[in-house]
Amino acid sequence: MRFAELTMHKRLKEAMAHLDYTEMTEVQAQTIPYALIGRDLAVASKTGSGKTLAYLLPLMHRLLTSRALSTRGPRALILAPTRELAKQVYAQLRFLVAGTQVHCSLVLGGENFNDQIKALRKTPEILVATPGRLLNHLTARSFLFDGVEILVLDEADRMLDLGFADALKAIHSAASHRLRQTWLFSATLNNQSVEMLSGYILKAPQSISIGEMHAIHADINEVFHLCDHLDHKQALLKHLLSQPDYQQAIVFLATREDTERLAKQYSELNIPALALSGDMKQAQRNQVIDQFSRGHAKVLFTTDVAARGLDLLHVSLVVNFDMPKLPEEYIHRIGRTGRAGNQGNAVSLISPKDWVSFQGLMALQRREVTFTVIPGLEGRFKGVLAQKNTKFSGKGAHPLEEAKAAAQGKRSFNKNTAAKGPVRKESKNRPGRNATPNVGDTDGFAPLRKKAPAEVAYVERDTDNEVE
Ligand code: ADP
Ligand code: MG
Repeated sequence: MRFAELTMHKRLKEAMAHLDYTEMTEVQAQTIPYALIGRDLAVASKTGSGKTLAYLLPLMHRLLTSRALSTRGPRALILAPTRELAKQVYAQLRFLVAGTQVHCSLVLGGENFNDQIKALRKTPEILVATPGRLLNHLTARSFLFDGVEILVLDEADRMLDLGFADALKAIHSAASHRLRQTWLFSATLNNQSVEMLSGYILKAPQSISIGEMHAIHADINEVFHLCDHLDHKQALLKHLLSQPDYQQAIVFLATREDTERLAKQYSELNIPALALSGDMKQAQRNQVIDQFSRGHAKVLFTTDVAARGLDLLHVSLVVNFDMPKLPEEYIHRIGRTGRAGNQGNAVSLISPKDWVSFQGLMALQRREVTFTVIPGLEGRFKGVLAQKNTKFSGKGAHPLEEAKAAAQGKRSFNKNTAAKGPVRKESKNRPGRNATPNVGDTDGFAPLRKKAPAEVAYVERDTDNEVE
């Protein structure tokens, strides 16, 4: 379906033509018509499929074609889990509002609160915000929420993971106009906390799910390597980043220290690299994203702060140096490449420490993979075979300990147990999202269960996992 076929404000159609976008993406074609007739929405569609315009266009249409329900506050709120994503959404919005009477404003954590209050006094029609900072403004009564006609939660599941369930409910209660439309968007939207939130804040929503929720992304070529230890991972990474065939790469790591260490190391190797993590000063974070998006660096070493939503045109390689704890984050991380129909590569390094996370991903996507070996960089670790009907009792060697020992060459490791992952096949019921791995958590490895959302703790935070 083409943008031209929509009953949508002329300016917006012109804006699409200006971008040379004639055909809508599938999620846009399925979502925009419902949004335009006033429905609430819960939309799941893969990374890079064009969800941003799927909500910005109908939002702008409503603002351009109908009178405000109230003149006392913003008409639309768009929330996103990270400042970088909020800024990117804001940039797309700025393009759509250019030349119209609609004003918009960006309300992010880490920036001056009083300056934001001043900007809010000018009653912008649209606010793009991170949830923690918006809640602070709600508490401070910086502006009135009762004129909000559209509330968009982009990457809604992530905001819940980060503990913002109560913040979102508070914002929903404050923006209580009965004619409000509410739209939830993500690539991964089917967990219990999302369902609870949807039940609470959506009115007779149209649920739209394009493709199977955790389906394998056809435009991303995924490769998995088994690794023994940190040195082995570093050798593989060096091999990957020395290949000539990628434009830009994002490497995801578990710790901020590693992002900095590796960025320095690769810059010294003449592979220009930058580090990004949530505890950096906001100005520095902005600078890093700006430089990377302009192509001033080849590699970005980062934490999950860059996993969601970022649309960086030239990223053709994503490396999971460490696997994320939550399998959904894997889907979002690799989704930084293979966007808008382009092809991308995603490489994951699986050491004994990553095995539980890897297995969680295999269970979520109900798949098996064959590990790839690079000649000269073979390792000893062959995966962990969970024994049939045997729960780890705590006595004897933990399966992961055994695997680690094998990787270090300390003990003989039964070749027959060498795995194609995943290896949990004993259950008659297919492992679902909530399946608990039958290996224990004795080792500092994260359990597969999701963290319960934090109790209301809306202090100003600035770490990788808490965004304000
Ligand atoms: P998602 O939020 O689903 O991950 P984005 O909204 O970030 O995806 O869009 C991914 C890319 O696709 C962006 O660069 C965007 O400009 C581009 N895009 C969006 N809609 C279209 C379209 N109809 N035709 C071509 N490209 C599009
Ligand atoms: Mg998006």
